[in-house]
Amino acid sequence: MTAPPRRIRVLYTGGTIGMTEGPQGLAPMADFGARLQDWCATLDARSGLPAFEVRTLAPVIDSASLCPEHWPRLATALIEDWDAFDGFVVLHGTDTLAWSAAALAFLLRGADKPVILTGSQIPWQAARSDAPGHLDAALRLAADPRLAGVSLCFGRHLWPGVRAVKWSSQSLDAFAAPTGRPLADLGATLRVHAAPRPQPAAATPRRFSTAVAGTGAVAVLTVHPGLTAEAVRALLAPPGVRGLVLCSYGLGNIPEDPALHQALAEAMARGITVVNRSQCAHGGVAQGTYASSHALARLGVLSAGELTLEAACAKLQVLLAGAPADPVAVGRGWAQDWAGEWTMAPGAAGG
Ligand code: ASP
Repeated sequence: MTAPPRRIRVLYTGGTIGMTEGPQGLAPMADFGARLQDWCATLDARSGLPAFEVRTLAPVIDSASLCPEHWPRLATALIEDWDAFDGFVVLHGTDTLAWSAAALAFLLRGADKPVILTGSQIPWQAARSDAPGHLDAALRLAADPRLAGVSLCFGRHLWPGVRAVKWSSQSLDAFAAPTGRPLADLGATLRVHAAPRPQPAAATPRRFSTAVAGTGAVAVLTVHPGLTAEAVRALLAPPGVRGLVLCSYGLGNIPEDPALHQALAEAMARGITVVNRSQCAHGGVAQGTYASSHALARLGVLSAGELTLEAACAKLQVLLAGAPADPVAVGRGWAQDWAGEWTMAPGAAGG
């Protein structure tokens, strides 16, 4: 008995993939979704592509303008269509593609169908565009039930949504996962890895949410030589700030400056959750290895381990949604594995 044909929802949100040259440079076409459906209607049935229907999430944007409030809209659009389709492809700008992949991975916890985010470095209609190949691969991958969960398809790989980063503004293989490994390789054949997902995440029951803390709730601070306590206080002064991702040196170190520690302690006393993420792309944080990070552990700063900046910010956005939670509950949620962010696929780099 042959399996019934799979149906894919394509959600177009904007980005270079659907852009055209305007008076001020590239900007997204509002009707790209309809055009795409028409172009693809002419494809030979032998192409073997699964059937798909395009939906446009208006207004379409250059993803550089994305705010956290965009993520609940994306999640809502996918949840509305969840039962009607077998898989999902999200067409999105590359600038914040990894951010949205991480956010959707946390909002669509335990997703039992594939959600594949993709975009392109070159617009669909331009010469040498990488867009048609990405859409082709993403559609086929979205039809593969082994790839349930949120992932990012680009260039030669499919990456876990919680581990992907945009590492090149020029390369056609613009994404990587410094602490992960591909879920699939996109070569002459699409090769899906045998056990693509870390097991605990795969076992997570479906638990969808559409709430984030919102714009201004999560601040990011890059530690640098000469960082002052005044700068920390100024960043964290707005009353809406509820979380801070502190991008530290190496294994999680910051200067041994009591004034800096004091500024962080004051913020935490006001209920701000501070997580410590390394500026190093690989290796992660081990608080307490050096005296210069010991004070952070003593203050109750949470370790971001090997989380990407994108995943750390997105998880805080989801964790801090709603009423202010007590720090113990936030710490507990932070430590839970929601989407494979803490669990490493066997054999993964750094695992
Ligand atoms: N600025 C564009 C965007 O993120 C870049 C791209 O899509 O490649 O929407």
